[in-house]
Amino acid sequence: MTFDSLGLSAELLRAVSDEGYTVPTPIQAQAIPLVLEGRDLMGAAQTGTGKTAAFVLPIFERLLPQANTSFSPARHPVRALVLTPTRELAMQVAEMAAAYGRHVPLRSAVVYGGVPLEPQIKALLRGVELLVATPGRLLDLVGQRAANLGQVEILVLDEGDRMLDMGFIPDIRRILALLPRRRQTLLFSATFSDEIRRLAREFLHDPATVEVAPRNATAAAVREVLYPVDRELKLDLLEHLVRVHDLRQVLVFTRTKLAARRIASELDRHGFAATAIHSDRTQAERIRALADFKSGEVEILVATDVASRGLDIEELPVVVNYELPTKAEDYVHRIGRTGRAGASGIAISLACPDEVDLLRAIQGLLRRAIPVEVEEEFLPDPDTPPRPVHARGEARPPAHHHKSGIARRRR
Ligand code: AMP
Repeated sequence: MTFDSLGLSAELLRAVSDEGYTVPTPIQAQAIPLVLEGRDLMGAAQTGTGKTAAFVLPIFERLLPQANTSFSPARHPVRALVLTPTRELAMQVAEMAAAYGRHVPLRSAVVYGGVPLEPQIKALLRGVELLVATPGRLLDLVGQRAANLGQVEILVLDEGDRMLDMGFIPDIRRILALLPRRRQTLLFSATFSDEIRRLAREFLHDPATVEVAPRNATAAAVREVLYPVDRELKLDLLEHLVRVHDLRQVLVFTRTKLAARRIASELDRHGFAATAIHSDRTQAERIRALADFKSGEVEILVATDVASRGLDIEELPVVVNYELPTKAEDYVHRIGRTGRAGASGIAISLACPDEVDLLRAIQGLLRRAIPVEVEEEFLPDPDTPPRPVHARGEARPPAHHHKSGIARRRR
């Protein structure tokens, strides 16, 4: 399969070849023809699969027939809008759009919060066909009459699952109300949870679905194992596994920053070089901790899902779910940190009886079971009743490490 057979114009193919791409990625091969046909699309693809080109290239193609070289801003209304949850992603998408659009007479721009409005207003007033935006800032700009969305033909919602997590759906609804009802809508998400499917029903019209395996799943490079464990023995099991398997560069996930802090300090006390990253630490501290981890000075990094976002932690040999996430999708994000780019990785989950509902939700999302391994000494005490942690309820802080529990168990 080559790019030539996808139905893209020579100017776009030239940009693709400038980028050094020779073969379309699976998401590109599947999505580009559908977007060119004008279909709404639901795409399950993570960042790193080539999904940006999968929507930017056919969007440019569809906008090309009415492209013009006029200097009048009025001749360059916003015709395609890409919404992203974070400014990092917005910048990244805009950079790629600039590269893919370099030989076509279509303009693109990016707007996001946290920086002055003025330069963005100026850029918009010059006229742009493709606008990449984070939702809040876009609404501000609409309020200032700097952006008019009345001529948008194509809308892309990128990283829909993150938008949900970050609470952007009300803003998205507000933006949708400003768009023409007749339009093409594309929704990309790393996972298709029930909530994402519900949004798709609300926002999309008869969508085609394309799903590509995340890169880490294609070669089955990540080995997943699940250890049933007593609530009180999780730390001991973690230490046991690290010692017995001589694990290095271990990224440990907890649900709460309290747990992250506690586990890191316990591990430290027991002679492991461990440190925690959580939202109480500044970005500079987190980057420092990460650098120490990458250099090997820190063996075990304990992180919450929130703190790990936006940090460049990938291709790690070992990821440990010390506590299962309350959002099943986070399991996929977590294990995506390991085994990238063909390197093999292992994702270990320590699940106690309190977490059966969470495990069920994860396996439901994966549509398969996670293979179980047993370390006899650490199995749950059948006499202790579970205290369930529900996916939607308050996550209880983990019960703490009690030496007495181990004494009872170890002969
Ligand atoms: P994305 O998932 O859109 O963030 O893209 C991930 C990376 O893959 C980017 O660095 C792209 O430049 C690169 N990429 C996208 N499409 C291709 C392709 N067909 N061949 C090679 N690299 C690609």
